[in-house]
Amino acid sequence: MHKWSELFIPTLREAPADAEVASHKFLVRAGYIRQLMAGVYSFLFLGNRSFNKIMGIVREEMDKIGQEFFLPALHPRELWEASGRFALMGENLFKLKDRKGAELVLGMTEEEVMTSIALKELRSYKQLPQIWYQIALKFRDEPRPKSGLLRVRQFMMKDAYSFDIDAAGLDVSYKKHYDTYCRIFDRCGLKYMVVEADSGAMGGKESHEFMVRTPAGEDHIVSCDGCNYAANLERATSKLETWGDLAPEGDGKPLEVHTPGQKTIEEVARFLGVSPKNKIKTLALMAEAPPDKKSDKKADNAGKPRSRAIVVLMRGDHQLNEAKLNAVIGGAARPMDEAEIKALFKSPAGYLGPFGIEWAKDAKKDAALPVLLVDKALEGRSNLIAGANKEDYHLKNLTPGKDFHPTAYADLRAVTAGEGCPNCGNSLRIDTAVEIGHIFKLGYRYTKMMGARVLDKNGKEVTPIMGCYGIGIERILTAAIEQSNDENGFWLPPSIAPFQIVVTPVNVKDESLLKAATDIATRLEAAGFDVLLDDRNERPGVKFKDADLVGIPFRITVGNKVTEGTVEVVLRSTREVRDVMIATLVEYFQGVLPAKA
Ligand SMILES: [Zn+2]
Repeated sequence: MHKWSELFIPTLREAPADAEVASHKFLVRAGYIRQLMAGVYSFLFLGNRSFNKIMGIVREEMDKIGQEFFLPALHPRELWEASGRFALMGENLFKLKDRKGAELVLGMTEEEVMTSIALKELRSYKQLPQIWYQIALKFRDEPRPKSGLLRVRQFMMKDAYSFDIDAAGLDVSYKKHYDTYCRIFDRCGLKYMVVEADSGAMGGKESHEFMVRTPAGEDHIVSCDGCNYAANLERATSKLETWGDLAPEGDGKPLEVHTPGQKTIEEVARFLGVSPKNKIKTLALMAEAPPDKKSDKKADNAGKPRSRAIVVLMRGDHQLNEAKLNAVIGGAARPMDEAEIKALFKSPAGYLGPFGIEWAKDAKKDAALPVLLVDKALEGRSNLIAGANKEDYHLKNLTPGKDFHPTAYADLRAVTAGEGCPNCGNSLRIDTAVEIGHIFKLGYRYTKMMGARVLDKNGKEVTPIMGCYGIGIERILTAAIEQSNDENGFWLPPSIAPFQIVVTPVNVKDESLLKAATDIATRLEAAGFDVLLDDRNERPGVKFKDADLVGIPFRITVGNKVTEGTVEVVLRSTREVRDVMIATLVEYFQGVLPAKA
């Protein structure tokens, strides 16, 4: 029996001064965590209890599809060099040296270690598929740790890796994880969305994120209440209302118009009496070439990164989404400087347009020519207005494909709230969210780079294909708190709360009350519930306040009604109070709570 009077539950009236989000404030106030240094926390009794319950659920569900390992956090640098991630992760990777001067890193994830095991041990298709997972500490030298457990430098993660003989096998492993993740987050009582995601630096193809909507989140999610559509802002798209094109003027050929001093989209549109939706926005960018050692040796300006002009055309009222562009060009781009603009357009900024420039037809073959990427919203439009590449002039009657030839059309537009859902047309919303899980089809990246090979059915050597799958254990706890709190504290779903029920005798000096409370707690515990007895000699107000704060979903108030055989059961989330006969308490909780396994 857990008695509050014997436990260390250091609740606080005040949150730390730097705490901004609810989970940070309440985790500290409820005595779950204490900070050791920036982004590194100790879990005290209640926090650790909740943490263990979350890990228990994750482990139980993962054991249905995979095998648990336990891998070291201390890795040799060479392993990260072999996968290419030593350079890629840069300053985010914790690095250290041992006494002999050997360079080590603290693992952020375990692709390298898992792949090194696969590479040494897997020989044949007969050993595949494999799903290996672990729940262990990970490290990341986060530049700005903040928001309590949301952005930390040391964290607990469930990471899993699948190895399959081919892409069809990976599909199966991926689906298993998808379904398992849904079961885990359902059991943890979270309201989450599954979102199509950009796989970013991980370099995979298919990818989904599991997200919980909260103002504390730093990711942006586009979703539809009318259907299940949900996507990361970098992947989201929307249905556009059709917008009428202008009639051609004069002979229909590109027509120069004098627009003195009118530079911005809005200025020009107003000056010409048209909508920005009939205008082209011209963005002049330079893409830095991806690192490619072979061609760098050939380049005569050694040391300087090779760069290439990328010009993007958007509808006048649309914004470019940089992540979408980066995915299309396979790297990052920066705005051109004045000299670069002058060199390509022969015009000052403010009057740029696509007309009269020879664009690459094929980005790879025509490597010497600039690339023109046109957003899909401009495909099929006609008689648009753009800069004339001449100070104080614009051009009318511009039709893509006729007056200038795009290298490619691509979806580059940033979706905004209120636009139509691509599936059902309902109005889209954009919310901030916290990521609690992420699944990727990694493909051959690690197995190829590190040289893992197995023999297939025909005795031929092939490279196994991988998936990787992560769940942030702290993230589950913080997301649960962010979605269920009020000014007095929070309430966790019973499956992950440190205790399911707190039994509170209003006066422990009254021996009959204390005895009744102890009996109730004993019986509930014997029935398999996780119970805390608040036997402290404190005023009822103090005990109720603490009970409201620390995340326990049910409270039983043992007061004077005991003489009538009744206690009060308080549901923390709604504060609904209900009189329940002591004799039927076990049955009552069997109806509202799952018994402890
Ligand atoms: Zn929809």
